Amino acid sequence: MRMTRADRGISAAAAQRLKPDRRFRRPGIRGKMCGMSAARSDPADGARRRRLATAFEAAFGGRPTHVARAPGRVNLIGEHVDYHGGPVLPQSLALDTRVAFRAVPADRVDLRTTAVGVEPAWQRYPDAMLAVLRERGVPVAGFEGVVDSALPIGAGLSSSAALLVAVGLALTSAAGEAVGAARLAELARDAEHRTGVASGAMDFVAALFGRVDGPIRIDCADGAIAPVPGPPPSHRWAVVSSGMRHELAASAYNARVAECRAALATLRDAGVTDADRLADVGADRLPTVARVLDDLGTRRVRHVVTECARVDTVVAALERGDVGAVGAALRASHRSLRDDYAVSVPAVDALVDAIGVIPGVAGVRMTGGGFGGSLVALVGAGTDDALAACVARHPGATLIDPAPGPAASVTPWVA
Ligand code: ADP
Ligand code: MG
Repeated sequence: MRMTRADRGISAAAAQRLKPDRRFRRPGIRGKMCGMSAARSDPADGARRRRLATAFEAAFGGRPTHVARAPGRVNLIGEHVDYHGGPVLPQSLALDTRVAFRAVPADRVDLRTTAVGVEPAWQRYPDAMLAVLRERGVPVAGFEGVVDSALPIGAGLSSSAALLVAVGLALTSAAGEAVGAARLAELARDAEHRTGVASGAMDFVAALFGRVDGPIRIDCADGAIAPVPGPPPSHRWAVVSSGMRHELAASAYNARVAECRAALATLRDAGVTDADRLADVGADRLPTVARVLDDLGTRRVRHVVTECARVDTVVAALERGDVGAVGAALRASHRSLRDDYAVSVPAVDALVDAIGVIPGVAGVRMTGGGFGGSLVALVGAGTDDALAACVARHPGATLIDPAPGPAASVTPWVA
């Protein structure tokens, strides 16, 4: 990636556009900015820091000056609805992606990764982030850096968004810029679009606004963000990677986006003119949906409409500590994703079924974009051994650390 000097000048118009953004907001974090923070990185995380330091020294010599980090996320409910303007409920993870970097006076970005076996074309992510920032007039500076991720890559836990957000933070903070968190979320989403995936806002908002104390409900229509309690002490979230990754996931994802766009256009032609997005359709109009659309369109819309309703069922159930209601919604969500939205695969369905019958498991479903990827379950105390045994019986499946983690940040490098 190469930048010209002109790209790095800070125009008045660009500075104006960097004002705090209010599209994604919640009380207390309105206008949240993402600049260098004086906070030091986690002192307990020695092995990770050593890996980054060794790779940086080998690639560039010397030490990085800063580290940008962005968390992955597990989406608890509200799958494939963000790009339809629906609500979603992600929990940011302690598993994160870090970019240790040092600004360079030259107009270049040189980024290496510690990831083993990742495809050479992974550079399309930093390339896309840089291109979008330049296009929108956001000041960026050259840097040399190393990426290290604790997230499983391609497992539906949003390693791509974590990479984009961490790179975006490195590019802008190296130029001394503090960009609004909401604006950076939108820019990173646009960068992912540029890589060929028509993703919604969730992954990026989760990375930039996530919190350790529980999930956030993001209203993807108006950008409102609200904290939601985690499960009661008797229960916890469990995350399992299926180990499967469908090579056509991106094209199938884009196919769902296109099918739903066509369905919405047909509905609007048939008189449902007050629905600007599928999330506006509402359960009361499912009979109209079934009358107007063919079977495939009906199923796609039914998933979106019922999934949006399930998000608020789960939010209300978490608020009153009703694990049975949360579990039932997770199970219904999986059936809907499997049968109506058709984004699951038989091996994931088999794992969902196997985990679902373990005594003490309130509910389980696929999470993330689908076609492989991960599962999220709400499990009671005492299920750990049975869950681990079940996962061990499924080749390629692994338990993932579900610990929650904070939002993205940039901090000085601690030697
Ligand atoms: P997910 O976001 O669910 O993990 P994606 O297919 O959306 O899966 O994104 C995975 C891709 O992101 C990888 O194939 C790679 O191109 C890129 N990526 C993610 N993390 C890293 C990393 N640490 N180093 C290099 N590339 C990465
Ligand atoms: Mg991704």
